[in-house]
Amino acid sequence: MNNHTVVNERFKGNDRGDVKSYLNFIDGEWVPSVSGKFSTNVNPATGEILGKAPQSTKEDVDRAVLAAKKAQKSWRLVPAPERAEVLYEVARLLKERKEELAQILTSEMGKVISEARGEVQEAIDMAYYMAGEGRRLFGDTVPSELRNKFAMSVRVPVGIAGLITPWNFPIAIASWKSLPALVAGNAVVWKPASETPFIAGEFVKIYQEAGLPKGLMNLVFGSGGVVGNAIVDHPDIDIISFTGSNEVGRQINERAGRLLKRTSLEMGGKNAVTVLEDADLDLAVDGIIWSAFGTSGQRCTACSRVIVHEAVKEELEQKLVKRIAELKIGNGLDEEVNVGPVINRSSLQKIDKYVKIGIKEGAKLLCGGKILTDGELEKGHYYAPTLFTDVKPSMTIAKEEIFGPVTSIIPVKSLEEAIEVNNSVEFGLSSSIFSRDVNRVFQAMRDFDTGIVYVNAGTTGAEIHLPFGGTKGTGNGHRDSGVAALDVYTEWKSIYVDY
Ligand code: GLU
Repeated sequence: MNNHTVVNERFKGNDRGDVKSYLNFIDGEWVPSVSGKFSTNVNPATGEILGKAPQSTKEDVDRAVLAAKKAQKSWRLVPAPERAEVLYEVARLLKERKEELAQILTSEMGKVISEARGEVQEAIDMAYYMAGEGRRLFGDTVPSELRNKFAMSVRVPVGIAGLITPWNFPIAIASWKSLPALVAGNAVVWKPASETPFIAGEFVKIYQEAGLPKGLMNLVFGSGGVVGNAIVDHPDIDIISFTGSNEVGRQINERAGRLLKRTSLEMGGKNAVTVLEDADLDLAVDGIIWSAFGTSGQRCTACSRVIVHEAVKEELEQKLVKRIAELKIGNGLDEEVNVGPVINRSSLQKIDKYVKIGIKEGAKLLCGGKILTDGELEKGHYYAPTLFTDVKPSMTIAKEEIFGPVTSIIPVKSLEEAIEVNNSVEFGLSSSIFSRDVNRVFQAMRDFDTGIVYVNAGTTGAEIHLPFGGTKGTGNGHRDSGVAALDVYTEWKSIYVDY
């Protein structure tokens, strides 16, 4: 998949305190994989090998599931407010270690340090929020049709949650999934992305330190093809929550569907900012720059289309080109840097391929459009922030998810046309509108076919207290964050009492 090379060496122990190597964490212990093999992970800003994590097998997953099953039997009986106490401690430890975690995150996946701090903060917020939910796992009582009968529903845990998480928000998305799963009384088997093993290992250490009983959080490193599939296919894993590519998400849904297994899938976007002719253009430029080039465009919610009224198109283009020229590209650990590297070489090549297709299909390149190799940048994986204009909705770059710092201006003549273009793609995650006209804003809020809508802000920056998810090819609904997460990790039980 990327630069990973297999290191065939026996593991000698978990290097706690220095982020060089990790083992799997199963049944409360750091254990090697039965394979004895490791993958290395690479700092995308420098190309330097950071360390290694096991290449696990189906057998490792089986062991994790056994541990999870045993632990969940008692965890489900612990009162939810007491389960929540562990989450409060997780929040406290995350807060205490925020800077250290942000540094690890930046070294491992490249996002600039201020964004990494923001991401760790998201995990902290989620831990407090879900700890609160431990006291709000409400059911219903309903009036029975019959005399002397009491009718009520309660939320019960699903059982074991299999979590498969991506590298672009390696701690935030892991927190969106593991915290609600645990507070609701489930056990977890987690496969993090191969690119970001260190932050995953650190998150698990925090759970351990926070006093989470053994067997409830099991971490199994490895590839999607082996470990991911073993999790999806395991008969004792009851729910799969996945964030990643559309292609893999569809495969998971098919495999899990055959086993009648619940899935929560979040699979990307082709998000647009719409700028109407009455918009505050400077505000729109801020929103576009931040959401198109933040995390080097590697967000599911990234703004990869700018739908603009033709009356302000030229002015917006000029302002954007000027702002892009001011962006400082480099290693995200440097506080001055605005745009870091992309995750790996194959991603760099994929982005460049899309740019070439854009040019071939007749889009006009306003700036960027190349791999950066000047000086220090040569060691890492850097792509120049790229802006196309005169893009038509039918062009490949306006339809497919690029997952890099590339965005495309699509001119339109009216709000109605903007809505049509916004909704014309196969994804439906996030959209935004810049306008000062409250009526047109409300029309867009109603008609944009996306799970998230922003008004006078870019397409990124979702907070944890509202449901996160989208329509169409993005996935199967709002399944992460907010109260919606509890619907993923609990089942309803209806109880009738005759008296
Ligand atoms: N939290 C991110 C945002 O709204 C999105 C997460 C993702 O890209 O998966 O910007």
